[in-house]
Amino acid sequence: MMQPPTTTGSADPLALILAKLDLLGQQQEELNAKLEALQAKSAAPLSPATVTLRSPAPKPMRAGQVTESDGEIDVVPASVKPAQRPANPYGSRVVLTTYPKQFGIHPLPLNWGAAGPQQRGPIVASRHPDSLKIRNAIGAYGGSYCIYRALAVALGELDPMHRPDFGLTEPPVTIGPHPQWSDPKKIVSLDPYGHLVTTAFQSDIAAGADVRPTIAITRAHMRIAEIEASVKAGRLRADGKIVLDNGELNVTKAAVEPVWYLPGVAERFGIEETLLRRALFEDTGGMYPELITRPDLKVFLPPIGGLTVYIFGDPEGITDPTKRVTMRVHDECNGSDVFGSDICTCRPYLIFGIEEAVKEAQQGGVGVIVYFRKEGRALGEVTKYLVYNARKRQAGGDTAETYFLRTESVAGVKDMRFQALMPDVLHWLGLTRIDRLTSMSNMKYDAIVSSGIEVVERVPIPDELIPDDSKVEIEAKIAEGYFTTGGIPSKESLASTKGRMWEDLQH
Ligand SMILES: [Zn+2]
Repeated sequence: MMQPPTTTGSADPLALILAKLDLLGQQQEELNAKLEALQAKSAAPLSPATVTLRSPAPKPMRAGQVTESDGEIDVVPASVKPAQRPANPYGSRVVLTTYPKQFGIHPLPLNWGAAGPQQRGPIVASRHPDSLKIRNAIGAYGGSYCIYRALAVALGELDPMHRPDFGLTEPPVTIGPHPQWSDPKKIVSLDPYGHLVTTAFQSDIAAGADVRPTIAITRAHMRIAEIEASVKAGRLRADGKIVLDNGELNVTKAAVEPVWYLPGVAERFGIEETLLRRALFEDTGGMYPELITRPDLKVFLPPIGGLTVYIFGDPEGITDPTKRVTMRVHDECNGSDVFGSDICTCRPYLIFGIEEAVKEAQQGGVGVIVYFRKEGRALGEVTKYLVYNARKRQAGGDTAETYFLRTESVAGVKDMRFQALMPDVLHWLGLTRIDRLTSMSNMKYDAIVSSGIEVVERVPIPDELIPDDSKVEIEAKIAEGYFTTGGIPSKESLASTKGRMWEDLQH
């Protein structure tokens, strides 16, 4: 919401804060200049890394005390006496990079959507001393797993100075480059060069930049009970190449971590970049101050789950206009996908999507499954279970009519998946046409088509694959606009389509 204009003549608080930050930055710059001058006099010149990691101030400090000068902070843990203090693997000085125009901070140039990797520049999100001053992205590598990395360092299991050895990790297949990679509007939520960083940014890495892949591609076999049953029943034939005799599938897969180009993400959703930055700052508990203080940094690696692409058949066929592509875009549902819960259609639809993808590959085309880590419509599993309880307990029972109402009353919204960023991965693959889309979601379809990819045919889940207890979900979704080749459920039908009550579970 916009703030009402001030009528008292007092200045905008944000402007005051920014002015103050600017002043702090200037003061810091002066102090740093003095520091560098002092260092220049010493016999052995110190590298920026040594400045960062220099010894604690000689004067004694009380536990819990924080002192601040020139953008660096000394911290003594409050909970342990200095004598028992564990070795701090980072050094006692914390270097903040939140000041605008901070001395010595020179982010590597980054031109999102430029014609090639060299023109675009590497994405440097590391706080390794070699990269701290050239860092050009907010957040950290590894998505949400950066938190486990932090724990590993804090527990002494991981050296914070560890630099990964990427030898032999290169992709076994070629993906791209595609023209979409240099269209700043087509891809805004992943780094299209994410799997190529060790070659594309070799010189930057050799110069010390800690640039890490945000995409990895590999090949594997996979076994799925339903697919094996399909092969046994003769619905799917073994061909020794895509489907092996024992029912195993041959697959190429890619794991993708999110990399958001904030101006592009804001534009995709039709909002202001400043509002997007503010919302990300507020709703991560103020976790990334640079979202507010460093408007010069345009890229953010959010601490959220990424996605996995499963490709059946030759990946290069994806961009061959003579080859057909069958695809399913699936959002994570751990309860059904992995544990077989029957309250929804997720696993049956996923398996159906895989089977259709495999059949396409067997006919000379390509089958693609994209699996997004957006559990429970991106509301999370805790919210999902709360909604299940409310659905089962409500007066009148669990009906299709009240399906979305219960989600809204708990979460405030029906759905937070916001499919607008989803097609980015399809553009990364170089897709321009999907011959068969095994999805009923109107939100996914609209997002794909409006991003410029043609969808020839939409394929709903066959009725016989819908578990009884999930009829509530599927009817409610069809009534909301999901694609169907059948009829739209009437109001009466929505009221009478009921899920199982808890008591029924005991029979
Ligand atoms: Zn589900």
